[in-house]
Amino acid sequence: MKTLRLILGDQLNADHTWFQKVDDQYIYAMFEMRQETDYVRHHIQKVIGFFAAMRNFASELRNRGHQVIYYQINDKKNTQSLHKNLLKIIREEDIDHFEYLLPDEYRLDEQLQKFCDNLRLSYSSFDTEHFYTSRDELAHFFKGKKQYLMESFYRYMRKKHQILMEGSQPEGGKWNYDQSNRKKWNGKPAVPRAISFENEVGDIVRDIQDSGIETIGEWSGDIFSFPITKHQALVQLDYFCQYLLPHFGDYQDALHTEEEYLFHSRLSFAMNTKILSPKIVIEKALSHFREHRDSILISQVEGFIRQIIGWREYMRGIYWMEMPGYATKNILENYHPLPEFYWSGKTRMNCLATSIGNSLDNAYAHHIQRLMITGNFALLAQVHPDEVDKWYLGVYIDAIEWVEITNTRGMSQYADGGIIATKPYVSSASYINKMGNYCQNCSYDRSKRLGEDACPFNSLYWNFLYDKKDKLQNNRRMGMMYNLLSKIPETELDQIRERAQKIISDPDGF
Ligand SMILES: Cc1cc2nc3c(=O)[nH]c(=O)nc-3n(C[C@H](O)[C@H](O)[C@H](O)COP(=O)(O)OP(=O)(O)OC[C@H]3O[C@@H](n4cnc5c(N)ncnc54)[C@H](O)[C@@H]3O)c2cc1C
Ligand code: SF4
Repeated sequence: MKTLRLILGDQLNADHTWFQKVDDQYIYAMFEMRQETDYVRHHIQKVIGFFAAMRNFASELRNRGHQVIYYQINDKKNTQSLHKNLLKIIREEDIDHFEYLLPDEYRLDEQLQKFCDNLRLSYSSFDTEHFYTSRDELAHFFKGKKQYLMESFYRYMRKKHQILMEGSQPEGGKWNYDQSNRKKWNGKPAVPRAISFENEVGDIVRDIQDSGIETIGEWSGDIFSFPITKHQALVQLDYFCQYLLPHFGDYQDALHTEEEYLFHSRLSFAMNTKILSPKIVIEKALSHFREHRDSILISQVEGFIRQIIGWREYMRGIYWMEMPGYATKNILENYHPLPEFYWSGKTRMNCLATSIGNSLDNAYAHHIQRLMITGNFALLAQVHPDEVDKWYLGVYIDAIEWVEITNTRGMSQYADGGIIATKPYVSSASYINKMGNYCQNCSYDRSKRLGEDACPFNSLYWNFLYDKKDKLQNNRRMGMMYNLLSKIPETELDQIRERAQKIISDPDGF
């Protein structure tokens, strides 16, 4: 039976069962398409990364003897639409049966289901063999529960997969070393140079320019430095374990003007495109830890493992449990536009200029920049979550909706009313100053709430608490904040709110 097998751009798992045996009965199809490049305006490096990884994957499959039909973005036969491309190949190749790997995006899942419903052929779908959990495992785990705490899911994952466990107890006696993951980085230990790869992508850049795809962010030269093959991803993983893991946990939440990556792994692109399996990442981190127990503390490795078997799998489970409704949640009723400077980085707020600058230059920002700088400001300025989502989904190289929307709309913007986060991640300048050096060279004064040079985060913070009082004051974790708010004299609060309104309408006078 002649079978067409579809591989999407984020399904580049070379170890998948599909590819274990070479068989002429199967034709694999991969497409670069405007429907994917245009559903949001992506960072130029993100489009380059996806096309480069896809082209490499197709040629690797061909080298292994598989038959692959690959449409590049400017190919004449490319209709730029998934279902039209598939129908064309089904007709031209006289296909009897259609198969696809379950997409991780709701949008594509729906599109493929509709396509199959109208197809006159038999069809079947397969797991991508990438994640630890199935789509609905988290929903089963939390069935009947009122709260979906990541920590309980994480402990379940640790036990189920016997990761950092001694029998039924957590290795080292503690489940979570979050408290040790909050050091400020003051220049020491030295951060090793970020590993980069010399991927020649000049052709792809020209293809993108010729096609007229609209992108955001910066790009110069012909070399793409993120890993685009499994081999490169494994080299990056080795590098991470050797040089960065020993300090990963300590500086996980740190912020610094001179260090874009600190001790972060930069493995998210390789994992989200499925070039790299999270299981390989965990096994490697664990074996490296076991071989270097004298120099690596358990808090460093636990902090890393929690992100992958905890947060990453948790976000995916929440996505499949809550979609499609999740994409329109706006419980805090925020309606302001995203400030213009998110697209240029031009603001006098040093923390935002640095974090947005990194994002536009590298299609990357580490977690605390995303959560406590750009996300924090957007929430305090009460920006509509649709606008915030659009920015995050476009700007980051690792942004795919299942992990972007749960982090952005959920964890960062609290638009889901607490499905993911137990309270909104908002802070004034004091947290930003505690975790990094941004405030040292800022035009604003971090210690002031009022006056033209007062840090905007400060007035916005109290204004946010005031505005959202009816929605947040009964949250037990917000009690202390509301207690402090109630102690601000009424006249001062009026002035704070007035200043906050000014900032919202014209963030810093640019
Ligand atoms: C507002 C916001 C938006 C985000 N959007 C995305 C996104 O589009 N795609 C994405 O992959 N991550 C997203 N994250 C999560 C996290 O910031 C990135 O995974 C991380 O910064 C990627 O860099 P890294 O590989 O160096 O991560 P490291 O710090 O080295 O962490 C290791 C790995 O853990 C996983 N991880 C860490 N934190 C999370 C998390 N909160 N959720 C899921 N996985 C996590 C990632 O796979 C990451 O590669 C977002 C976070 C926030 C606050
Ligand atoms: S003073 Fe305010 S705006 Fe400036 S870096 Fe600090 S937190 Fe950001």
